[in-house]
Amino acid sequence: MTDTSPHELVQLARHLDGVLVLPGDQGWDAGRSAWQLAVDQRPAAVVLARSAADVTVTLDTARTLGLRVAPQSSGHNAAPLGPLDDTILLRTSEMAQVHIDAGRRRARVGAGVVWAEVTEAAAGHGLAGLGGTAADVGVVGYTLGGGLSWFARSHGLAANHVTAATVVIGDGRVLRVDAEHEPELFWAIRGGGGSFGVITELEFGLFPVSQVYAGAMYWPLERAEAVLTRWRDWTATVPDTVTSLGRLLRFPPVEEIPEPFRGRGLVAVEAVAQLGPSQADDLLAPLRELAPEMDTFAPTPVTDLHLLHLDPPGPTPAAGDGFQLTGLPDGALAALLEVAGPGRDAPLLTLEARHLGGALAPGASEGGAVSSLDAAFAVFSAGITPDAGAFGAVNATLDALAAAMTPWRAATSYRNFTERRAEGLAFEPAHVLGRLQEVKKTYDPLDIIRANHPVRPIGS
Ligand SMILES: Cc1cc2nc3c(=O)[nH]c(=O)nc-3n(C[C@H](O)[C@H](O)[C@H](O)COP(=O)(O)OP(=O)(O)OC[C@H]3O[C@@H](n4cnc5c(N)ncnc54)[C@H](O)[C@@H]3O)c2cc1C
Repeated sequence: MTDTSPHELVQLARHLDGVLVLPGDQGWDAGRSAWQLAVDQRPAAVVLARSAADVTVTLDTARTLGLRVAPQSSGHNAAPLGPLDDTILLRTSEMAQVHIDAGRRRARVGAGVVWAEVTEAAAGHGLAGLGGTAADVGVVGYTLGGGLSWFARSHGLAANHVTAATVVIGDGRVLRVDAEHEPELFWAIRGGGGSFGVITELEFGLFPVSQVYAGAMYWPLERAEAVLTRWRDWTATVPDTVTSLGRLLRFPPVEEIPEPFRGRGLVAVEAVAQLGPSQADDLLAPLRELAPEMDTFAPTPVTDLHLLHLDPPGPTPAAGDGFQLTGLPDGALAALLEVAGPGRDAPLLTLEARHLGGALAPGASEGGAVSSLDAAFAVFSAGITPDAGAFGAVNATLDALAAAMTPWRAATSYRNFTERRAEGLAFEPAHVLGRLQEVKKTYDPLDIIRANHPVRPIGS
């Protein structure tokens, strides 16, 4: 813990356009609170930054006081950060501008913008961005980690479509970063995470999509083996215009969960097809043969896609984690169901496997540090953790699942689906990590900027 008194930090407020919040101030709990409510963030201070100049002054102050700075948008992936007592938490929600350039099919957004805002603004021009399943995930954090959307198999990772950024680096300088300016930094922020600078503005490509054929089919959890086996086989047959996932769901019997899901255990397949209804229906026939209890597939405007995955509508106490699989052969499915299938007392609200490949496959798309996912499926599981007992039980199940799947785990993990401290995990091959460490040394050699999945300066 750094010996820094609020008295020293308080000077920072005089230089900010935004707001400094210190422990005990009104607004302290709101300022330090992450989307991920199970994480009790206790930083040295919170800065609600309004501009790149605010970020510069925060970094300068941190450097002077021997503190670090952790940029954070929604706090969806706050858990791996760890104790923050030597860190200023730099919240970005006040940097909320969204600009759509319909002619160039580009969006330019402030660091605090969440996907719902881009989706709404872009849809007004018949365009869509590569947002994930949840409307309230931060655009910048999601994109820095890769960005796996409902269009992932046709368009690749969201990070591959970043065209420029405004980045404040460790010494406080504000840089315009794109293919011509600071190309190594531009490479690093596309998939390499948030270690290299504080992004205040991000510019990225949009696509002319306004409607898709999308939906989910649900069966009782007891049918998990038959359904997931059929879905796995089906994924081998679908074109890149179809992105899908198979999942196990266990809904608690509480009022907040609407019927027909309340208290139920289900196995589901969700998919988005950029196809016409009849073509998509033909494609879906092998899944429908299994007679789902509910089938919601229909032409769907992109503005409704955030409803498909049933993500929590707001901040939630939860624990989650993920890994990637080289494949899902029968043995792997059996191992997965052994931990979390029917008859098991698994405290997981969701266990999902997302189908990768297509434009996500290595070599299929151009981009930066992480431009592809070298795996066949990305798995993510999470459980609700209202108390310490639940937190322990969910984490024990996440551990058991990760251990059971070891024989089929890919060499790399996916940053965005990693919600626990990732000691020993690789997010990229060693040569890519080495290059990222060089970039970190160039742009933040003192390691002031603290990311949830940190890259350290080479030689540190
Ligand atoms: C319900 C739910 C649904 C999800 N769905 C998907 C999905 O469909 N696809 C997918 O790919 N992922 C998904 N995720 C994972 C999500 O993309 C990651 O948790 C991501 O890190 C969230 O970004 P954030 O900015 O909202 O979170 P934060 O916790 O605010 O940020 C995460 C990290 O990003 C970095 N960062 C954020 N802002 C900045 C900035 N301005 N400058 C520099 N670094 C910054 C920091 O290192 C920070 O620690 C989901 C997560 C949840 C909980």
